[in-house]
Amino acid sequence: MRAGEAGEGAPPTEVAEVLSELPTSEPSPWVLIVTDTNPGRHRVHESLLTVADGITGTRGSLEEEGIDSLPGVYVAGVYEHRADGSEALLTVPTWTTLPLRGSLAVGTRILDLRSGVLWRNVDAQDGSVLCSARWACLARPGTTVLVAEGRSTLFEPVGPESVTDRATFGDQVATVVQTWRQAQPAGVEGPRTLGLVRIGSYVRSDPQTQGSVPSGSQQEATQPTVLDAPALLAEQKSAWAARWAEADIEVIGDPELTRAVRLALFHLMASVSDAGEAAVGPRGLTGPAYGGHVFWDSDAFVLPVMAATHPASARAILEYRIRRLGTAMDNASSLGRSGARFPWESASRGNDVTPRSGIDEHGHIVAIRTGELEEHITADVAWAAWQLAAWSGRWAFLDGPGRPLLTETARYWASRIRLDSEGVGHIDGVIGPDEYHEDVDDNAFTNLMAAWNLQRAAELVERGSSPTEQVEAQRWRSLAHALADGFNAETGRYVQFAGYDALEPLLVDDIGPIPVLADMVLGHDRVAGSQIIKQADVLMAHHMIPGALRDGTLQRDLDHYLPRTAHGSSLSPAIHAGILARAGRLKEAVGFLQLAQDIDLDDVTGSTAGGLHLADLGGLWQALVFGFAGVCVTGPDDDALVVDPHIPSGWDELRITLHWHGRRVRLRCQNDAVHVACTSSVRVRLGDDAPVLIAPRGAWVERSTTEHRRRGATPEQGH
Ligand code: BGC
Repeated sequence: MRAGEAGEGAPPTEVAEVLSELPTSEPSPWVLIVTDTNPGRHRVHESLLTVADGITGTRGSLEEEGIDSLPGVYVAGVYEHRADGSEALLTVPTWTTLPLRGSLAVGTRILDLRSGVLWRNVDAQDGSVLCSARWACLARPGTTVLVAEGRSTLFEPVGPESVTDRATFGDQVATVVQTWRQAQPAGVEGPRTLGLVRIGSYVRSDPQTQGSVPSGSQQEATQPTVLDAPALLAEQKSAWAARWAEADIEVIGDPELTRAVRLALFHLMASVSDAGEAAVGPRGLTGPAYGGHVFWDSDAFVLPVMAATHPASARAILEYRIRRLGTAMDNASSLGRSGARFPWESASRGNDVTPRSGIDEHGHIVAIRTGELEEHITADVAWAAWQLAAWSGRWAFLDGPGRPLLTETARYWASRIRLDSEGVGHIDGVIGPDEYHEDVDDNAFTNLMAAWNLQRAAELVERGSSPTEQVEAQRWRSLAHALADGFNAETGRYVQFAGYDALEPLLVDDIGPIPVLADMVLGHDRVAGSQIIKQADVLMAHHMIPGALRDGTLQRDLDHYLPRTAHGSSLSPAIHAGILARAGRLKEAVGFLQLAQDIDLDDVTGSTAGGLHLADLGGLWQALVFGFAGVCVTGPDDDALVVDPHIPSGWDELRITLHWHGRRVRLRCQNDAVHVACTSSVRVRLGDDAPVLIAPRGAWVERSTTEHRRRGATPEQGH
């Protein structure tokens, strides 16, 4: 129906039909309700209330925007090429602004995580109400819908019944935003009600070919209107229901935590496409910070969530790397190395786009050396490729398109390692995850990850390749073995890098409560000369490759590095929560989990205005799944899902849905038992116990160390 058609006795307009579904403002773990009107928090709320569909992301700006606003619509992987050669996520025209007369209060905004719809309900000064609903169509990425209704006097005099705005950005994006209005007849009181429906369509060029926007895209905006807004809403609800069915997490006994992890999952799922390639910046599609460049946040923090819930999105993250492998190989060769070296910050083309300098808090220009020295990203990409294979059980991926992500990276490390006269391997001159210390030798994390990369690549090649490749694999193994890993037999722990223990023995307590930007407090040079570290570094290796570190080192490394870690990066608290849980230190783990949970909800770092910290959101999920639930995936030779719960006394149960080896698995984790239900039989190992085979009807698995026996589970033959 179009404007003017509504009449007496006419069926409800599209607008009325959609807005009749406005949820109540009853708190629930499925909604984020924002009523806060503090202008200082406005941009934070815009980040939190983003609606996205994997391709477009639209910040939750009010329909009337205003001076406190940082509106933004982004199209994944589409960067603006600036005159100085830098690239930053392009901001395209928005679809959420309405021609409202005068200013309105903020009202109540409700982000419904279950359906991905942002609702607003606000009382206007004249006593009437303005209502709106908006969403980015998950089932048809690139299509956006806004529905609004209010007394006609709230709006500027409206022009034609239907308006279409078109724009193109070079050959990268075409946008068409079409609005039409539906006026209802004047009620007995006089003023008419005006309803608006607006459909946006954003079409991007194929990043693979760097080709131009397909011709005819400008017309595509009219296509979605074949479906009316209520039909698009119904489609949206079922698309999100399908995503939640494969990914939900619930912490029985802690609804606040449940809501926080659902909010995290919501924004993660919305920020990553599941087709083609996904360039996932540190803030996803929720804000412009860091220019939307792709860091290890994507491979190490976001990818595992996708691999375990929606493998097609993990595949798209890796596709982004696969398509830029050539550039990574050129980069390695320009440095005189073999194989592929991935850039610390990457954008459209895959060359390094890390800025070379920045301005510090005193207004001084300071060098940024991460682009030159933070090399662990190369192993992180390899790790991510392996994660997808391990979660999906599709090891063939590593014999096919994923293979060079392991082998070319291994080739890089093989050419990067220096062997000393005693045959010990070193990686000199790097920055590890702890960016307070630059140009260090033998960073334990980098070396452990490089060794892991070399070993996994060797295993892959050894499973059937040419004799020449077998020789190369042998070399990779011996280099992995020769590489210094920082383990100190006397202390029984890993040293973060050569010479770290001799630095000024400052503790974070000397500076202030965590999280603290220690480099700001102490100054760059002092912090670099001290043992204070920015974020998990040795502990990050315990998190990512626990099996590669020596037994008994986790507790000692926790004891040593915890008091030295400032958590100056949002990436840090969630990782600590997870490894502390694994180590059985639940009280401390819960404290870090709370911090991770608050990072964006409470704007702990003061930087949420620039977008949500996707690595923290992914870290929160990882802390619950890998830490508290103790889930662990194994290699191709051991086909069981490992679960080893550590559940704090305040929680009754931790419920997790995962996608493992092509089946959906639902876990209900308690401390000594896990209930497993699955869409097809699955082998599950509880801690160190022998695996048991679980049939789809589901069964409890109990720890053999408890007095209980397994109830309903079939012990596997041969175990
Ligand atoms: C962290 C990096 C991270 C980057 C982007 C930095 O502050 O130290 O580990 O990749 O932010 O989130």
